[in-house]
Amino acid sequence: MSDDCLFCKIANGEIPGKIVYEDDQLLAFEDVNPQAPFHALIIPRRHISTLNDVQAGDEALLGGMITRAAQIAKEHGHDQDGYRTVFNCNRGAGQSVFHIHLHLLAGRNMTWPPG
Ligand code: 5GP
Ligand code: ZN
Repeated sequence: MSDDCLFCKIANGEIPGKIVYEDDQLLAFEDVNPQAPFHALIIPRRHISTLNDVQAGDEALLGGMITRAAQIAKEHGHDQDGYRTVFNCNRGAGQSVFHIHLHLLAGRNMTWPPG
């Protein structure tokens, strides 16, 4: 837990979030400013600031985030049309909340390359 971290506060219930999935390690909730018709964020409950701070031993946690994203996409009917998963790392890539989160975007056609 990092005291001034927004996503730690959502994970511990201090700040409300529209939860789409939770277990003892992970939480997924709707993005407050969605960039697609369906936009969820999958986070570990444990505070990790950026992908640069992921350590050996975190592979199962990170893999769990990805497989959970796929599961949530399927549950919401987006597995066949497609969806995008994104980790932004540091400000140059657009990271604004420094608790790692996997964006799951779906429900519209995506362009490439991203902006
Ligand atoms: P980043 O820019 O760090 O990759 O993504 C942070 C995401 O968190 C943004 O898409 C932003 O809309 C979302 N976000 C910021 N504050 C809140 C909040 O208080 N609640 C929720 N649900 N999402 C938030
Ligand atoms: Zn945090």
